[in-house]
Amino acid sequence: MPQKPEKQSRKGVSSTSAAAVSAGIERRGLLLVLSSPSGAGKTTLAQRLVESDQHIAMSVSVTTRTCRPGEVDGQDYHFISEAEFASRRDRGDLLEWAAVFDHHYGTPKKPVMDALAGGRDVLFDIDWQGAQQLNEQLPHDLVRVFILPPDGKTLERRLTARAQDAPDVVAKRMKKASAEISHWPEYDYVIVNRDIDESHANLSAILIAERLKRRRQLGLMRFVRAVTDQL
Ligand code: 5GP
Repeated sequence: MPQKPEKQSRKGVSSTSAAAVSAGIERRGLLLVLSSPSGAGKTTLAQRLVESDQHIAMSVSVTTRTCRPGEVDGQDYHFISEAEFASRRDRGDLLEWAAVFDHHYGTPKKPVMDALAGGRDVLFDIDWQGAQQLNEQLPHDLVRVFILPPDGKTLERRLTARAQDAPDVVAKRMKKASAEISHWPEYDYVIVNRDIDESHANLSAILIAERLKRRRQLGLMRFVRAVTDQL
């Protein structure tokens, strides 16, 4: 699966993350969902994580919205028409889908299923509607993390500072922000994003711990048998 672009420096956790993928033990991948109101730093955090950890890749959604300056088709999103979206949805090619800000967004199913079976993790930058649907489809593979802004003023400042969006779009996002925040109790973990380095370290810690869950380490039985055979 392609990863989002924009190279950023690796911070601290990469070697720890690699070590947490238990030495040679076969495992099932996991699905790490990040949701937050727009402007809480979710995209930066997601980029940081895929940069610092070679075992997780971003899911690239399809969307019917237009490409923003700086975005790359096939990397940030697959930009498709409404007709193409409808046909993919009706064929059952989307694992989940939702209407957000008057456009359709969805997660292509095949890359996700391939990653899970291959013991690779997938990171999702999707909204609460998508998280709910993934929870219906693949509850045991899902780890849900909600990102909160440190306070309302910071969120407002971040939304206003986004030069790419027109003022009416910003106003709409502000209104939507509190609706999105109301879904925080549906998530397994909540990170208040006061400092991006600290949030990145916390997110990495969640990922490491979830990888070590017994049920995800499919090869444990064989490993333990080999250990006890040597005793
Ligand atoms: P944006 O247009 O700013 O990139 O994204 C708008 C919102 O749509 C964000 O909250 C983002 O998380 C959500 N989103 C992006 N892709 C998907 C997807 O495939 N499914 C769902 N349910 N939401 C998505």
